[in-house]
Amino acid sequence: TDSTRGNSRTLDANNTSSVPGSAITDNNNTWGEATDSSRQRAAIDAHYGMQLTWDFYRDVLGRNSIDGNGAALINNVHVNRNYNNAYWDGSQMSYGDGDGRTFSPLASIDVAGHENTHGLTERTAGLIYRNESGGLNEAMSDIMGTAIEWYASQRNPNVQFDWKVGEDIYTPGVEGDALRYMDDPTRDNYSIDHYSNYPRQTEVHGSSGIANNAFYLFVNGGTNRTSGLTVTGGVGMEKGAKIFYRALAFYMTPNTTFAQASQATLQAATDLYGANSPEVQKLKEAWTAVGVN
Ligand code: ASP
Ligand code: CA
Ligand code: ZN
Ligand code: CA
Repeated sequence: TDSTRGNSRTLDANNTSSVPGSAITDNNNTWGEATDSSRQRAAIDAHYGMQLTWDFYRDVLGRNSIDGNGAALINNVHVNRNYNNAYWDGSQMSYGDGDGRTFSPLASIDVAGHENTHGLTERTAGLIYRNESGGLNEAMSDIMGTAIEWYASQRNPNVQFDWKVGEDIYTPGVEGDALRYMDDPTRDNYSIDHYSNYPRQTEVHGSSGIANNAFYLFVNGGTNRTSGLTVTGGVGMEKGAKIFYRALAFYMTPNTTFAQASQATLQAATDLYGANSPEVQKLKEAWTAVGVN
């Protein structure tokens, strides 16, 4: 239980689906020691991911937890047995341990940031989890999860920032792969990176690639694989995260479409940096590159 972050806490579901789970104890309240039980590791990872999320929301987004009012973030680990998933259920997070082949325990920083941000989206825009709004909901989680990994990498030299999602927990026996790739969403042979392909892939974890790639192009610069259009340079993660958060919290609504999301982010960028700013110009180029106008 983290008294410096609204009593957010991490609990043990004891390999059942029953949440919230039970308290996890430690003989000296110093967590992550080599001598601590290996069963604590997933809990410490989930808790660290929650702490970084809390601090990123506070320091970068200027927001007090998911509801803006300091709501405790509740994490459950060891959910089910060999469970290959992690999710937000409307009030708390659940993390499986994975089967050791497809996944190791699913509590990496980017995944924790992703799951916590489902809570943020629910408490703000309320993007409905199907159709275009569902793809945007998923993209906001990948975007903020990756921004939180970036934030962590600025503070902890052991954290490696990248544009992959879930690289530290996906297929532990395979080097270099990931669950999703924001710099080239099509690399997973499932996601799409351009709105012209939306009718072919409407599942939310695949259509998210459209907005994931727009965010990548905006923040980092790069080329969209499908259109071949290039955004030169990028505005950097901090500005990108602030703009997309402002769009989520102030302009998006439950049924927002990709085209409306583009307008929402442009309005947010205009609020923060001005209508004639390079930020607004680059953001237009990024959305155009992924086929959204
Ligand atoms: N990975 C989960 C799913 O398959 C939940 C999530 O997207 O957060 O739906
Ligand atoms: Ca200890
Ligand atoms: Zn998700
Ligand atoms: Ca990552």
